[in-house]
Amino acid sequence: MTGVVYLVGAGPGDPGLLTARALELIGTADVILHDRLIPATALDGARPDAELVYVGKIGGGPSMPQKEIDRLLVENGKEGKRVVRLKGGDPFVFGRGGEEALVLREAGIRFEVVPGVTSGIAAAAYAGIPVTFRGDSSAVALVTGHEDPEKAETAIDWPALAAFPGTLVFYMGVRQLGRIAEQLVAGGRPASEPVAVIERGTLPGQRTLVGTLSDVAGRARDEGMRAPAITLIGPVARLREDIAWLETRPLHGHSVAVTRARSQASALVARLRDLGAEVVEAPAIRTRALEPEIPDLEPYDLVCVTSPNGAHELFARLHASGRDARALHGTRVAAIGPGTARALLEHGIAADVVPARSVAEGLIEALREIPVERVLVARAAEGRDVLLDALRERGARVETSALYETLPEPLDEPTREAAAAADYVTFTSASSVRFFLRAADGLEMSGRLVSIGPATSEELRRHGLEPAIEADPHTPDGLVDALLRSAAR
Ligand code: SAH
Repeated sequence: MTGVVYLVGAGPGDPGLLTARALELIGTADVILHDRLIPATALDGARPDAELVYVGKIGGGPSMPQKEIDRLLVENGKEGKRVVRLKGGDPFVFGRGGEEALVLREAGIRFEVVPGVTSGIAAAAYAGIPVTFRGDSSAVALVTGHEDPEKAETAIDWPALAAFPGTLVFYMGVRQLGRIAEQLVAGGRPASEPVAVIERGTLPGQRTLVGTLSDVAGRARDEGMRAPAITLIGPVARLREDIAWLETRPLHGHSVAVTRARSQASALVARLRDLGAEVVEAPAIRTRALEPEIPDLEPYDLVCVTSPNGAHELFARLHASGRDARALHGTRVAAIGPGTARALLEHGIAADVVPARSVAEGLIEALREIPVERVLVARAAEGRDVLLDALRERGARVETSALYETLPEPLDEPTREAAAAADYVTFTSASSVRFFLRAADGLEMSGRLVSIGPATSEELRRHGLEPAIEADPHTPDGLVDALLRSAAR
């Protein structure tokens, strides 16, 4: 039984441009042979037991010899494995996918090809340049710029290329820019023809330079434009003036560190990225379930849930003891904020009380008119005591159930440094402040500190730091809105 080798395009770099088919195959592969220019998160969905083999360039040096890659493809295929050969962009556009397909055919191994979004077209689109445009360009040529145009045995017919009636997109050409431009002008293209160089297209930090055939090489040198970059030549490059959109997003050009636990950060991270921010994920904290026994809830007239994670854990514990939402049927349920209320709703409970201000003090206020005798507070092991104290002061019998604890999560050096250097460092809880500052110990933080609310701000001040921004409402959405207001200033 032989396996199947999938020659898969991973797109130009933005993880959102991985195809549904690519993600499906990555998630089921036994072996993944991958290049350097694939999205940073492309392999996140791989099976934990999948074998991941990097076959790309090391530093600026040579990649694994093609022969060796071919050998690995054939060998793994013969062993009956599901093999994903993952390449940047499209596998059949300057990706040697065609060569690998021939090798597999020769060896009698079944293969499939999964096209990807190619960087020449995608980087241009992210720069606001359509490669075709009625009246301006009715054809596109994808060209390798790898070759030295002065080489005698060049595979490129430069006069024919210069005469091509449409947009030219060069891959791998930043170093040869001067000579490419010269050859095209020599072949008859106007020296004033617009040229765009797009570096790291679709990735955070994408840069675009627009010039003309006569000045682009010098300007690219001055600006230090480097690979990976594509060079696009044609009147359509001028459309960027009107169609550029990436740079108009409200948080474009701002880096934002998110210190929240990875398991809770995804919605916040996605929203910040949608707004154009360069997000540094620096989860200095993680939660660990403590798995307490949840008592019979019948005798309690109020259950307070103080975080979304607390809501999920409460139900995990109820389910573990054969119970479900009906365990709360006669009991009033209070959520500390809208995120916690949403989490409860996922388990079939619509919270009776959600305070306007998402802090313990807000919840105390919201409960003021409600009679309480016996309360269970479902929360983290190290929560604040203000809520408990206030309820006890009212004469209620208050018990707590510690559902999870927060623990420090180590950050690697590049993450630590990128987070400390971010324009904004966001904190969504006092414990994220504590653990992040411990992880960032010794680093100078240059950015503005953004706090979700008063308890988090208080924790920053306890460490001698002043938050530049405090969100109101004290929710992740409130935090994003506060950031937007600050960035607009
Ligand atoms: N198969 C790939 C191309 C591989 S050749 C594709 O279809 O996109 C490598 C060249 O692709 C680089 O030298 C550069 O010219 C281009 N490239 C790859 N990723 C890029 C990116 N994110 N932005 C700009 N150019 C990129």
